Amino acid sequence: MMLKLNPAARLMIPDRLDGPESIRRTTHLGIGAHQDDLEFMAFHGILECYERPDRWFGGVTVTDGRGSSRAGPFALWSDDQIAEERVREQESAAVIGQYSFVAQLGFASSAVRDASQGAVRDELRKVLEASRPEVVYLHNLADKHDTHVGCALRALEAIRLMPKAERPKMVYGCEVWRDLDWLVDNEKTPMPVSRHPVLAQTINAVFATQIAGGKRYDLAVLGRRAANATFGNPHATDQETSMQWAMNLTPLVQDETLDPVEYAAGFIERLKQDVIRRMRQSL
Ligand SMILES: [Zn+2]
Repeated sequence: MMLKLNPAARLMIPDRLDGPESIRRTTHLGIGAHQDDLEFMAFHGILECYERPDRWFGGVTVTDGRGSSRAGPFALWSDDQIAEERVREQESAAVIGQYSFVAQLGFASSAVRDASQGAVRDELRKVLEASRPEVVYLHNLADKHDTHVGCALRALEAIRLMPKAERPKMVYGCEVWRDLDWLVDNEKTPMPVSRHPVLAQTINAVFATQIAGGKRYDLAVLGRRAANATFGNPHATDQETSMQWAMNLTPLVQDETLDPVEYAAGFIERLKQDVIRRMRQSL
C-alpha cells in the first residue's frame, strides 16, 4: 500500500484507483478533527476539484468519532456503533464529493489536543508527504472547539516538518465552531461556494448521526454561507449566494519562527483597532 497508516486508521479511495497515484494526485487537502468537518468547512476545496480531471480533493479526519451526542434513532447506540456509522458517513461523503481519498486516522480527541504526543503530527506528516497538496484547509486558530484547535496546530507542525519546497502554497483556516465574519475585511480570505447548491445539501445530509442527533448542522452551515455572502460587504450588491471565510495561515508554514499564538492574536488586535477607530470617528 502506498500509504501506511496506524492500525486504527481507515483509508478509502472512492474510485478504487490502485497505487501511489491515488494519493499523489491530490491537489487540495482538507484536515478536520471529526467526520463532517471537511464538508462543513472545506467545501470550497471540494468544489474546486469537483468534476475536474486535473484537480483532486483529499480528506483527512483525525479523530475516531466516539462520544458524540446522540438522540432520536441513534439514542440507544453504543460508542462503537456510532463510531462505525460515522466512518461510513464520511466515506459516503467522499464518494458523493469525488474525493481522491479519505483517511480516517482514528485518534482519540485527547491525543489530538496533547502537543507532547507526536503520533498525530507524525501521521499527518505521512499523509502530507504522500499527497503533496498545493492547497490545505485546516480549522481556524480561533475556533472554540479545543479538538479543532489542537487538530490545526498538529497539522501546522506536520507541514513545518516537510522540506520547504514540498510544503503547500496556501494554507487556510476555516469556519466551524466560530465563524470568521469578525476578521477585518481586508484579512478575510473569501471562498465562494455558490456553485452546485444541490451537492452542498446532499453532502451535508449524509451526516445523519449528527443531524438526527439533535444538531441541524445541515441548515446552519448553509445559513452561515448565505449570511456571509450578504453581510460581507455593506456597500456592494451580492456577487455570490454562498460564501465561506478563511483565516490565511500560509505565513505560519513559510516561516517557522512565527508563533501561532501571536499570529492568531494579531487578527484579534486588528479587529479591536477597527472597532475603536469606527467609534472614535463618530464621537
Ligand atoms: Zn468537529
